[in-house]
Amino acid sequence: MKFVSKLGAIVFTSVAMTVASERPNIVFIFSDDHALEAISAYGDRFDQISPTPNIDRIAKEGMLFERSYCGNSICGPSRATILTGKHSHMNGFMDNNFSRFDGNQPTFPKMLQKAGYETAVIGKWHLISNPTGFDYWEVLPDQGSYYNPDFIQMDGSKKRFAGYVTDLVVDKSLDWLKNRKNKEKPFVLMTQQKAPHRNWLPAERHMKLFNEIAIPEPETLFDDYKNRIDAVAKQKMSIEKDFHWSHDMLLPGRATDPRFADGMNDNEYGRMNDAQKKAFKEAYGKENQALIDQLAKGMSDKEVTRWKYQRYMKNYLRCIRGVDENIGRLLEYIDESGLAENTIVIYASDQGFYLGEHGWYDKRWMFEESLSMPFIIRWPGVVKSGVRTKTMIQNIDYAPTFLELAGATIPDDIQGKSLVPVLKNQGKAPSDWRSAIYYEYSGEYTHHVAAHDGVRNDRYKLMRFPDTDEWMLFDLENDPQEMKNVVAKKEYETVLKDMQSLYGSLRKQYQVTSSTFPDQRWNQKWWKDRWDEKNKEANTPAAEKAKIVFLGDSITQAWEDTGKEAWDKNFAPLGALNWGFSGDRTEHLIWRLQNGDIQRVNPEVAVLLIGTNNTGHDQRPAEETVGGIKRTLDDLAWKWPDTKIILMSVFPRGSTQEDPLRKINTQINEQVKALADGKRVHLLDINKRFLDDDGNLSKEIFPDLLHLSPAAYDTWAVALSSKLKELGVE
Ligand code: CA
Repeated sequence: MKFVSKLGAIVFTSVAMTVASERPNIVFIFSDDHALEAISAYGDRFDQISPTPNIDRIAKEGMLFERSYCGNSICGPSRATILTGKHSHMNGFMDNNFSRFDGNQPTFPKMLQKAGYETAVIGKWHLISNPTGFDYWEVLPDQGSYYNPDFIQMDGSKKRFAGYVTDLVVDKSLDWLKNRKNKEKPFVLMTQQKAPHRNWLPAERHMKLFNEIAIPEPETLFDDYKNRIDAVAKQKMSIEKDFHWSHDMLLPGRATDPRFADGMNDNEYGRMNDAQKKAFKEAYGKENQALIDQLAKGMSDKEVTRWKYQRYMKNYLRCIRGVDENIGRLLEYIDESGLAENTIVIYASDQGFYLGEHGWYDKRWMFEESLSMPFIIRWPGVVKSGVRTKTMIQNIDYAPTFLELAGATIPDDIQGKSLVPVLKNQGKAPSDWRSAIYYEYSGEYTHHVAAHDGVRNDRYKLMRFPDTDEWMLFDLENDPQEMKNVVAKKEYETVLKDMQSLYGSLRKQYQVTSSTFPDQRWNQKWWKDRWDEKNKEANTPAAEKAKIVFLGDSITQAWEDTGKEAWDKNFAPLGALNWGFSGDRTEHLIWRLQNGDIQRVNPEVAVLLIGTNNTGHDQRPAEETVGGIKRTLDDLAWKWPDTKIILMSVFPRGSTQEDPLRKINTQINEQVKALADGKRVHLLDINKRFLDDDGNLSKEIFPDLLHLSPAAYDTWAVALSSKLKELGVE
């Protein structure tokens, strides 16, 4: 730089500014649970009402992806995947029941900020922790409300706004666009709707829309769930059985009519003001009364299901009309303000949804309706009008796409691929593009859909259900509605073999093993209690001062009893925290680190000892356990970037070197050496101190040949203390 003259520097700056201004803005319009079928550009079931003229306009002026999929078909996980470019098991947000997004991890908004973009997210967020990486954010708490919703403000406070949520999200988005301080900066705006998520409350102006229309039913509305595994019949997301009269069907609840008291009321009604309540009663009252009269006369189960389907679909489509109208407002502003030329507009939704197919509402399954995500993109000057492509994309691809658009580097650990080459090539995939996608759903107590994962290529779909060790294979060409599991059919023997091999290779590519797939043990009360207690402890001023944190299983946990004397003497003065959980394997520690409310803790050193239960519980291959340890170290690298790690070799177990479990641990210890760089990660192997010259372990030292005696804790404490000194921690 010292050669650059004053003039040169000026030229350099102006070039940089030109480049910056050429980088496109991104308006990412996102909704919740919008099925492809309910977008006219995708499906034709609702052609009589054309629910989405403005979304269709984006498709007409840009590109529509026909094969666009999520990696995990639920709200929070899809969002976490979009932010990180990684599958759920890697970003830690596995489900909506237990997960908490760790906003310390690398995300595309943070990287875009670094690349000079202004970033904003407005609307539904649903990741428990507050947004990070955004210059501006204003988000709905949890699922948010349709009527007079609260928004969490950037100072953490909640503020209530009068009106309908879909309108408010776009009002706020327009305000942000109009009032940006730094208008020469490129920007990304994520404008994220709650609609059309359950329980489908339309805006007042749409409450009577489609009243005169009979919505066509899907062919599989009365699916009998034959020819597939039992799990398909066991879900609780059926229109017939699982809709709540008050919450989902908007009939009078507990308080007003005991016939419809089924445990889940519509909370939206309570939020409405008098005028809104009046509109609601006017819109639904008559139809509700007609149903009540009809029920009194007698209705068959099928007739009731059909009634429910109509009510559900009309409200769902009314909510979508609200989304679409507001997209119209956004597009209009983008056009009028002159932003259009250099602004990419995307419409997507976090996953698909069942609109009566298989008799269902909701999502979760790897079946097409919920696996698919709408993805429509307008990029003036680059993408031609009206392009439709079959190139297979997934929500792991969005982050790398945005990074490439911003001219930022795409980190190696991002699992998706940038779509920029596909966009520039009018939908045609580069020769090395994927030919299959991987999917994972870890199971939630909501709706009782069994955990499963699987792969889909052009023609076939394979799903695996680990709890029952069952598989389902579908031939999407011959059976697009996925009504026949052909896994046991002779004529599909070769296909099955190929698909299972594809399943294996994609799991390997995405680092999915039992040892890396985060898992909690909440079904064990003591574990959950300990987890709660540790989270509480992590939120104290004392925890902020902890210089050292111990991570591990029962061997670490037992510093609290067997090793207490040594602990009190050596580590208590450093404010040490014990995060050992008896019986934990690598996947449990990974889960704890991902989901812990531990942001205040930032130790100088972490001591990591994990893996012997991977060996002991089911004799996992050493390579797999080392993958789990590596994964833990990788996560710690962004979680605690300045923390040094003392990586303990897994302690010996069994009396001799010939013990089969000892042998596996020995292999683990050979392989973990490669993970220690001597800078951040420091290996400490003290196993010899516990063994005699022949490698035998005595019960005096490890009483059950697995856990340490008090004397062995002393030995470990001495070795650790000297290592800590070496690292300058005293
Ligand atoms: Ca959703």
